[in-house]
Amino acid sequence: MTTTLINGKEVSQRIREGLKTEIAALTAQGHTPGLAVVLVGEDPASQVYVGSKVKACAELGIYSQKWALPTETTQEELVQLIHKLNADDRIHGILVQSPPPKHIDEEAVVLNIDPRKDVDGFHPVNVAKLVLEEPDGFVPCTPLGCMELLKAYGIETAGKHAVVIGRSMIVGKPMANLLVSKQANATVTIAHSRTKDLAALCRTADIIVAAVGRPKMVTADFIKPGAVVLDVGINRVPDATAARGYRIVGDVDFEGVRDQCSYITPVPGGVGPMTIAMLMANTVKACHQLTTAS
Ligand code: NDP
Repeated sequence: MTTTLINGKEVSQRIREGLKTEIAALTAQGHTPGLAVVLVGEDPASQVYVGSKVKACAELGIYSQKWALPTETTQEELVQLIHKLNADDRIHGILVQSPPPKHIDEEAVVLNIDPRKDVDGFHPVNVAKLVLEEPDGFVPCTPLGCMELLKAYGIETAGKHAVVIGRSMIVGKPMANLLVSKQANATVTIAHSRTKDLAALCRTADIIVAAVGRPKMVTADFIKPGAVVLDVGINRVPDATAARGYRIVGDVDFEGVRDQCSYITPVPGGVGPMTIAMLMANTVKACHQLTTAS
């Protein structure tokens, strides 16, 4: 079987190039898209993610604000900042980097973000818009990126059986909603930690999306020959030969399954690069919608 590796770096770069043109046009009309990224605390991985988001803004011509707040920031202080950003006309997208410190109630914080600026797509208004298939809502960036990869490679979803492993609000559930939507028309099964005989279920799948957080859990016995496999997982595993002492692997045993797949995303370089590209796309969409509405 010929296996095509899905190149997320290449697809995300193409999307970024398209966005640059759109951003330049918006800027020429006096509407430079703006994104505010809020980080509470000093989680090293979060610092890296926030840094990459701000850097991507600079590369594309998006105005950005980075708010790095100390760990002891109270919920009330954070909410006050969000209200300030809601009212700031230069800002069209707001995101609070996850996970915040334990004393912060993330769900309550999200409720304070103006849904029209909720570029992460976590506000209940945007969750509802996704389920209702209303095009002006915001969809979480990672599943949105997965759909873009399927589109970029012309992978048919209509009538296909897709198994999404994982039911989080950030990946699994929105992914399933996108696949079952009238845009994609797949028949979708959502699997989770209580699913019985996951391997047998996955062997009935034309498309598998793995969003579990367990290194190399999806093995060759999960794969129907010719299946499409999207690996969302980002897991650190110890590796004494790596400079950092670890390497990143997905939820799929890439080497073990690749020859059975028609298409597969590698980790890194598959789904990962799409997430930031879609965040930029959501920010541009928010800018269009907010400035056309006013
Ligand atoms: P969560 O921990 O929120 O969700 C994991 C899901 O996997 C849960 O629904 C859980 O089931 C399910 N699960 C756990 N163990 C099993 C099992 N043995 N069999 C079947 N299902 C199982 O993770 P996220 O959705 O936030 O992230 C998933 C992965 O994707 C992680 O590796 C994360 O790092 C990565 N990720 C990557 C992104 C990117 O940009 N590429 C962005 C976001 C996440 P249950 O609900 O029953 O507990």
